Amino acid sequence: MQQIECVFCGLTTDRAKEHVWPLWLQNLVGAGEYRGIHLSSCLFPLSERAHSMSVLVFGKVCTGCNNGWMSQLENDFKKIFIQIRVDYKKIESLNKEERKVICDWSFKTITMMNYATNYRQIVPLEHPRNWCFFKQIPKDVKIDISYIHEFQDLNCVQTNISKALFHQGDLDFRFKNKSYIIALQIENLGIKVSYYEDAKKKNFLIGNIGNKFVRIWPYKKNGEFSIRVGYENIKSMTQDTILCVRT
Ligand SMILES: [Zn+2]
Repeated sequence: MQQIECVFCGLTTDRAKEHVWPLWLQNLVGAGEYRGIHLSSCLFPLSERAHSMSVLVFGKVCTGCNNGWMSQLENDFKKIFIQIRVDYKKIESLNKEERKVICDWSFKTITMMNYATNYRQIVPLEHPRNWCFFKQIPKDVKIDISYIHEFQDLNCVQTNISKALFHQGDLDFRFKNKSYIIALQIENLGIKVSYYEDAKKKNFLIGNIGNKFVRIWPYKKNGEFSIRVGYENIKSMTQDTILCVRT
């Protein structure tokens, strides 16, 4: 068996081949292909292509991770997603354990997505490594969840943070800093993972305009969120990301 250095645990050991969109999910939603959208920092599409599901395989995960925690995480997420697709109102009232599973599953999936596709590597390697080691989402990473009105089997957008709201004199920010936004769409469920390097240290906030989401990491209760609001599509969810100074 081929030896690889696992992106998650860092061990050089036997390689597993894992589908970026797991097989159980492909079968559940009946997807044969999905559209992957790569946006430049100015939000111009760099590429928008249909990938065959069978091709989108991630080869930098070891058999230990794949058969261990990853397999457990897939089972845990599957149970929650099956409940969500029966009644999307569930995303208005997820409990702490469910939010944790969704955060971990999303973080695992966006990492594999970024490393498996031909987009720039925008997820720093220390993110999956630290996440695997400390069992906690890396600092300055935010995860939002919402309802997407335009149905898609599976979709993904990868880009960088490209909007900011600053006063003159607050200009200690650069879009060239490490940042990423990777959004996943599974049927009507939207999950967005965003990151800006040293956001907390610089007193920056990765925010959204409006009230169309629930921040599940770090969790912030949003009593006003309703799936009736949601986003029109995955692009509008992605574009609703803005960097500002924490007040
Ligand atoms: Zn591993």
